[in-house]
This record gives sequence, C-alpha cells and structure tokens, in this order.
Amino acid sequence: DTAKLERITATAWRIPPHDGMHVPGIVYADEYLIADMDDKVCQQVCNVAKLPGIVEASYAMPDAHWGYGFPIGGVAAFDPEAGGVVSAGGVGFDISCGVRTMLTGLPANRVVEVRDTLADALYAEIPVGLGSTGHLHVVGEEMDAMLLGGARWAVEQGYGDAADLERIEERGRMAGAEPATVSDRAKTRQRDEVGTLGSGNHYLEVQQVAEILLPDVAEVFGLREGDAVVTIHCGSRGLGHQIGTEFLREMVETAGEHGIALPDRELACAPIESALGRRYLGAMRAGINCAFANREVIGHLARQVFARVLPEARLDLLFDVSHNTCKEEAHPVAGESAARRLFVHRKGATRAFGAGDPALPEPLRAVGQPVLIGGSMGTASYVLVGTPRDGGHAFRSACHGAGRALSRHAALRRWRGRDIVNDLEQRGIAIRSPSMRGVAEEAPGAYKDIDAVVEVAERAGLARRVARLTPMICVKG
Ligand code: 5GP
Ligand code: MN
Ligand code: MN
Repeated sequence: DTAKLERITATAWRIPPHDGMHVPGIVYADEYLIADMDDKVCQQVCNVAKLPGIVEASYAMPDAHWGYGFPIGGVAAFDPEAGGVVSAGGVGFDISCGVRTMLTGLPANRVVEVRDTLADALYAEIPVGLGSTGHLHVVGEEMDAMLLGGARWAVEQGYGDAADLERIEERGRMAGAEPATVSDRAKTRQRDEVGTLGSGNHYLEVQQVAEILLPDVAEVFGLREGDAVVTIHCGSRGLGHQIGTEFLREMVETAGEHGIALPDRELACAPIESALGRRYLGAMRAGINCAFANREVIGHLARQVFARVLPEARLDLLFDVSHNTCKEEAHPVAGESAARRLFVHRKGATRAFGAGDPALPEPLRAVGQPVLIGGSMGTASYVLVGTPRDGGHAFRSACHGAGRALSRHAALRRWRGRDIVNDLEQRGIAIRSPSMRGVAEEAPGAYKDIDAVVEVAERAGLARRVARLTPMICVKG
C-alpha cells in the first residue's frame, strides 16, 4: 500500500481505491514524515476504506501511527443512510481521551520560583498511576447521573466552576448517553476512578507559553507569551476501556449477521442504524461524559493546589476537547454542496472547528476552536486553531499529538526512566511519576518531531498554529 502512495500536494498523499476500498486513502505528511511513517498506517488506512458506508476518504493525520484496527491519527466518516457503520476500535479503548488547557494568568517565572513545591503538591493531590483511586466514590444512581451529566455533574458535585462548561466540547455534557447500556462491570471499574489521571501517556503539565505564532487569535484565547498554563491529558479510565472491550467482542461476533466482511477483526463494527450500533453509541456517549467529568474533577484538584501554592493563579479554562470519539455531525462531502448527517470517527485526532461554527461559544466563535496538541514531556506542545468550514479538511479534524515514532517496547529497550528524569531536570523540567518504566516508554525520543507535525498540519490546512508551549512540570501516569 505504501507503494501506491501518490503525492497530491506538498503535504498530502493519496492511495487510490483498490482491493475493495470504497474511497481513497489520504495521508497528511511531508516527504520526511511519510518516509518515517509506519507501513502499517497505510495498510490500516486502506482497511478502513473498505468498511460499509464510508464517505469521501479514509484519512490519516500527520501524527498517525499504527493502532488497533484504525490507525491512531485516523479520521473516517460514515453515512447511516448508506449502511454506514460505527466501530468500537475506530473510537479507541480510551473513549473520549482528551486534553484541556487552563490559563494561570501568571508569568512563568512565578512558577519557576516555587517549582518543586508546586510539583510535589500536584503529585500528592492528583491521583496518578495504574490502579490509583480518586476522592470520589461513585455508585448506583450517582454513577448514572455522572454518565448522563458529564462535567455538569462534576460541577453540581462541587468540583469545578459553572463557567467552565462553556469551554468544554458539547458544553460539558454529551447528549444521547444511555447509562443503561453500560455494563455493571464497566461501572464497577469506574467507581473509584473518577478524577484520576491514570497511567502511561496521561499527564498534568505546567507549561510556559514560549512563542505566539498567531497574535490575534492568541489574544482571544487569552494566551500571552511568557505566561504559565496547565494542561491535563486523560480519558474515561476503566469505564471506557471496559465499554470498548465488550462492544468490540460483540461487534466481532455479529459482523456476519450484519453482512459485514471484516478486512481485519480489529475493525469490528455494526451498522449505525442497527440495535447494536445504537447501543454502542449510547454507551460510548456515556463514556464521553465520564471523560468530561474526569477532566473537570482533575481541573478542580489542580485549582486547589494552585490556591495553596500560588494563590494569584486563575486557572481559567481555555478549552477541553476529546480526541477519541465518534460524533454525529453535518458535513458536506467533497464534491457535494448540501451537508450530510455523518458519524465521524476521530481516533487520536482532534475536532478542529473553525470561526463561525455554531458549536463554539462566544468569544471563540469569532476565531475558531482551540486545538490542543501534546508533544512530549521534554519537547514542545502546541495550541492550534481550527479552520473555517469551507476551508476545512478531513471533516474539520487535525492531529492530536506528535505521534509515536517508537513502540513502547522499543523505547523501554533504549532508555532508562531514571536517566530521562535526570536529563529533563538538567533542562529545568520537573518530572513526577510513580513509574520509571512508564517514563522510559514515554521518553521524548519515542515521539515524532512535534514541530514538524504541526507545521504539516498547518500547511495542509487542517489547523493553524497559535502558540508553542514548553514544559516546566510534568506529573506523568
Ligand atoms: P495519546 O492520546 O495518543 O495517548 O497521546 C497523545 C499525544 O500526547 C502523543 O502523541 C504525544 O505526542 C503526546 N504526549 C505524550 N506524553 C506526553 C507528555 O508527557 N507531555 C506532553 N506535553 N505531551 C505528551
Ligand atoms: Mn489521548
Ligand atoms: Mn488516553
């Protein structure tokens, strides 16, 4: 499949439909990113293009790497009227994993003065690591209320501010969640995990706004050069993982009944209009609310720590956006003028709506949605802004990170966590993590070059760079 790549622009490659693909594959990359891209990404892009009801193209973002069934960094939209499907693997196991960034309103040197105290306090207060438990115990009707209410539920419980809700995708509450479709096992796994960061690549980072690239938009976003911001990356924890696991199994078992020939078992899916498809969507949306609640609670815990250590800090929410979802949205398909109702899978890809979009709150509607992108604990991260509707691509989506260049396994062989922590300390970055193995797996060198990835995203028209952030403190799962 890599051999079939045709370059269509400086930053986009096309794989023409072949072997049962309904639409072409499109990979956003320049010549360097494409040369380094895992061959399996192209294979997976082609496999996704074979699923029923896919429209326009099967996309891979510039940070794409090999994933479960769909590539991470994959975007694909399906038309329910054309037999379109929803896929548990196309959403990912960490349903609604996402990122929020909060503005401290303080210059970064104020953080530097108290850096270790702040790092220790954040590490002590934010539950982090495999199997860590949170401040809340959520069971029974309360669990269902959380799965229906998302961040709004968290605010009602006294975690977070009502003002945050406007700054969360879907205003903090995903409609159409069906807690009854979430298994008891999934709910049990979650009962002590609300407001926990989890393990692996999840993090809470205090960052410095190192460079402003789009001053007008940065001003509306409230991003000032030299200021400190706080970014949180996590998802739906055990609940999302359990939903993904259970529905994947069911989708594998029933694919034949639905007349779906799976090019890869990992692409298990169900028609959007089938009972199973609808049940998955209800459960997945409950998972989205779980992630919204989770990030709202963690944001509240971060505010409490700052209130003690740096009381002048504000921690106003800039935005909170997911990168593992399937959402019903209206988009015109390329070559058509009227919008169609589509189910857009973004797996390791960020929604990137542009100026004027009614989904955005004021004042963001004037400039577009913040697109929050992690790099690594030792390199830059970025804030981008979405592209307006008529200029958008890939159903108005963008990359979600740098993307892995090396597998966890390969990273473990190459680095020792303790050395990474020491190296970063030399560079003024404080790492706090319960797992040195996790730190090695997440070594900055295990990721692609974030500066190159976001530059390609911008040149390809997916989103524009607003600000470059550099890490000061990273509490890492
Ligand atoms: P994922 O959602 O695929 O697990 O990770 C999203 C992105 O976060 C990765 O592609 C990577 O670029 C970025 N990332 C991973 N660890 C860190 C970290 O500790 N700090 C920052 N700023 N970004 C990270
Ligand atoms: Mn994520
Ligand atoms: Mn995640």
